[in-house]
Amino acid sequence: MSFSALGLSPAVLLAASKKSYITPTPVQAEVIPAVLWGEDILAQAQTGSGKTAAYVLPLLHLMTTDSSKALILVPTRELAVQVGNEIKGLLAALGKMTRPIKLGTVFGGVAINPQMMQLRGGADVLVATPGRLLDLIDKNAVRPEFFNTLVLDEADRLLDMGFAAEINRILALLPAKRQSLFFSATFPDDVNALATGILNNPTRVMIASTETTQPDILQRAVFVDAGRRADVLAHLIKENAGQRMLVFVASKHGSEQLANTLYAKGINAAPFHGEFSQGRRNQVLAEFKSGSLQVVVATDLAGRGIDIDGLPFVVNYDLPRSPVDYTHRIGRTGRNGASGTAISLISAATEAHFRLIENRLNIRLNREVLAGFEARLTSMPAVVNTGGVKGVRMSKKDKLRAAAARAEQENQ
Ligand code: AMP
Repeated sequence: MSFSALGLSPAVLLAASKKSYITPTPVQAEVIPAVLWGEDILAQAQTGSGKTAAYVLPLLHLMTTDSSKALILVPTRELAVQVGNEIKGLLAALGKMTRPIKLGTVFGGVAINPQMMQLRGGADVLVATPGRLLDLIDKNAVRPEFFNTLVLDEADRLLDMGFAAEINRILALLPAKRQSLFFSATFPDDVNALATGILNNPTRVMIASTETTQPDILQRAVFVDAGRRADVLAHLIKENAGQRMLVFVASKHGSEQLANTLYAKGINAAPFHGEFSQGRRNQVLAEFKSGSLQVVVATDLAGRGIDIDGLPFVVNYDLPRSPVDYTHRIGRTGRNGASGTAISLISAATEAHFRLIENRLNIRLNREVLAGFEARLTSMPAVVNTGGVKGVRMSKKDKLRAAAARAEQENQ
């Protein structure tokens, strides 16, 4: 089966192929034609099933052929950013082939003013978390009566996160005559009840779970001078704006210190370690789960057992002591069928240790160098010939000479 059999316009087909979407996933094959027919959808779909493109591609088709506007409600800012990026990529691929389509992506936990500016003149497709959307509606920055398509993405998580009241308020503001698309990974009673209230004789799409036993974790290693790790981390955090990161360090002190450094750089970060009371630990985790906290800097205490649903990134700021700890740490991401990324920061001093971890786990990661953060020290200084006599303890003077040689090498 190819995309061309699904009824999408040539412009949208070309955009899909530019994004290397060649064969529709099972969810896409069923959802796309039904959306183009104007039907409501009730789909069971998980992250990784291609569910985003399943609704975005036909919505783009509809938006380019008439003037429909779509509202996409998502539970977390991570998903808002992810969906927004997917739409952005397709819009870029559409280029000038169609009338311009304006995208808005809004979520809580950040200043509202830039979002109000972004929405001036309206948005044709708006990706939003419910609370922030209502704030924007209250400030007249969004006119809900113009959205004739509603998507609920990850409806079960929207309810789990306590958004039922907000969703009902939003539903009351949308036009009664609209197309509604409902996506959820699970269907407990409250999700079914919400679907029944929203949908009008929907097409049901139930695809067998795509969950695999092998977690989908992309492992990366970034090579950087040890002293620049905090800068690289801040860069990675900003590059992945809005996405949560669990950062591992070696000590309680390191956890406090790095969280402070990040906080001073304007990043919403908090420490997490064994000296915290259970109450405080729960609070940090609750804020992290809700997305109001973006970065948690933790000791290995958080390496085991903690399940933060949909955590997209784990960073090894300090390397773990053992391959077992490495496996536990990176296993905090890529859970429950979701995909995730684990990034280890490697410096000259820790390269040999990381090699041992790689050998034990039978992996070999490419050492990435980030532009602007090239390491000055690419290997540990070989034992410098200081003039000391082999087998004889170094004199004070020899030690000073060796230190000076090392410093010189580091400054090259
Ligand atoms: P999702 O389930 O929407 O989170 O999508 C999972 C990933 O699959 C995303 O990175 C998409 O860009 C990608 N994707 C979606 N549809 C296709 C397709 N038909 N072919 C290849 N990749 C796809």
